Amino acid sequence: MAQIGQHQFKLAGGHPALDFINTVHDWTTSEPLDYLSEFADAIRFGETAGLLSRADVGRLRRRTPHGELTRLRELRALLRRIFEMHLSGETPGSADLLKLSADLAEAARATQLTSATQLHRSPKVPPQVPMRREITLEKAGDALLRLRIVEAAVALLVSDATQRVKSCPSCGWLFLDVSKNRSRRWCSMDTCGAVAKSRCGGEVAALLPPLEGARRSLTRAAAIPPAAAARRPAVRFNDIMYFAGPEPVRSRRGFNEQRRRYREPQ
Ligand SMILES: [Zn+2]
Repeated sequence: MAQIGQHQFKLAGGHPALDFINTVHDWTTSEPLDYLSEFADAIRFGETAGLLSRADVGRLRRRTPHGELTRLRELRALLRRIFEMHLSGETPGSADLLKLSADLAEAARATQLTSATQLHRSPKVPPQVPMRREITLEKAGDALLRLRIVEAAVALLVSDATQRVKSCPSCGWLFLDVSKNRSRRWCSMDTCGAVAKSRCGGEVAALLPPLEGARRSLTRAAAIPPAAAARRPAVRFNDIMYFAGPEPVRSRRGFNEQRRRYREPQ
């Protein structure tokens, strides 16, 4: 896998396990750029995703882990396979489930229970829960980040939230769709969504025949009586016939708005 230098991690996944899977540039290419070039990148990711505290980061940076970066990449590939199988409605491979189970057992061995009162700053205000479970650096050593990712991934896989996991059709990143009507399509509207939007708008605009004396606008074919439709300049895009309609389009945004509106099922 190709690798790049220091990268600013974007947390588009909405969950640390999904954000970890998204630490490559694009999963749809055969040779994705890997944002985890070295173990230090993984530590930066862990801090950005909230999986490592600043103290953890300071202590991990003083260590020289052997083979941990490779194990992290293997875990990433394993989790991606499992989530992709789930998304396609298939059962994950038994070898993959056994591997994740073994990782989970390793995470459990590195887990400690801590009394919440020991951590709470004000003894006058009681903590909300009496105990806290934590994978500690003392027990996990170099594997701290990896085991915390394992625990987060398993927590997601055994929860209802798995039903909201989606894959971006453009880059293959995974994300949790927490929108009310579950309509989120892209990992981010700033990247893949914006590219797709401008690509569609551009293609339709380029295809539309020029209209004399009127600005371009689009009306879905089904909304126009056949006789009137026959007199209008038309363009086919994504197997939907559009006609230049009566509504004036004053901007690119308005153009995209109409295109989107008339493409939706009536
Ligand atoms: Zn994407």
